[in-house]
Amino acid sequence: MEGLSRQVCVILVVLIGGGLACAVRRPHAAPVPRPADAAIRCDNCEDWNLPRAPLNISANTYYVGTDGLSSLLITTPAGHILLDGGLPQSVAVIAANIEQLGFHVADVRVIASSHAHFDHAGGIAGLQQRSGARVVASARGAVALAAGQPTDDDPQARSGREPALRFAPVAHVDVVGDGEAIQLGDVSLVAHYTPGHTPGSTTWTWRSCEAGTCQDLVYADSLNAVSDDGFRFTGGAAAFQHSIEVVDHLPCDVMISVHPDFSRPFADPGACHAYATAAAAKLRQRLATEQ
Ligand SMILES: [Zn+2]
Repeated sequence: MEGLSRQVCVILVVLIGGGLACAVRRPHAAPVPRPADAAIRCDNCEDWNLPRAPLNISANTYYVGTDGLSSLLITTPAGHILLDGGLPQSVAVIAANIEQLGFHVADVRVIASSHAHFDHAGGIAGLQQRSGARVVASARGAVALAAGQPTDDDPQARSGREPALRFAPVAHVDVVGDGEAIQLGDVSLVAHYTPGHTPGSTTWTWRSCEAGTCQDLVYADSLNAVSDDGFRFTGGAAAFQHSIEVVDHLPCDVMISVHPDFSRPFADPGACHAYATAAAAKLRQRLATEQ
């Protein structure tokens, strides 16, 4: 069919000298957005997407993600907040986990994004379609989510814009400012901008209370200084180091990172400091190689 269209196009150009009919008929004139449910294939994707039974982390907070990609459900009397959506093919796993806990995807009111790479944001469009939830992200994160690919200043922009790693664009993303809170029911979810791994990276915090006792929870975004070949972190090093310090100093009774580490307990008041210390060492090493 595409070959036939091109022949028709060429004939039209020759006969009537017009380019318009040609432009309308030419296939692949614009990139077609990836459907929300189209699986993304990558080296780690199959392992990351293995199912994992949901678990209660703190009073109102549950792990509902896959084996290698975090997704958290924060329940409130006014509906639920979901943090991240994994891969497109993670949507079914996340939805099944939510239902297994006795909650409903249809009651998710807010979906918050850590960073707009395919492995954490690839499922957000599908989860938004299933729930009708409002999607919230940082200013730069919202740009990438709406585009279905990393922004051009992302350390992994080149690889993330490969057609195979683009994700379904997310409609109507609301921007949350640095330090601003999203209120839902009795939960106040605070955005902390932590740029470095991506320009829009965001760490989210909230309190989880039960029987008069409260815990400070942290959903820590990636602080991993990895990039495509040729990218230099040196120019943005101060902002990246500041992001690491922000995470280091958060009130932190329980920390979950975007790639979960099930070998450590989530409830560990030293977790944010350990996470930040490891990230700082990796960034230092990386900057040394750029000199
Ligand atoms: Zn990433």
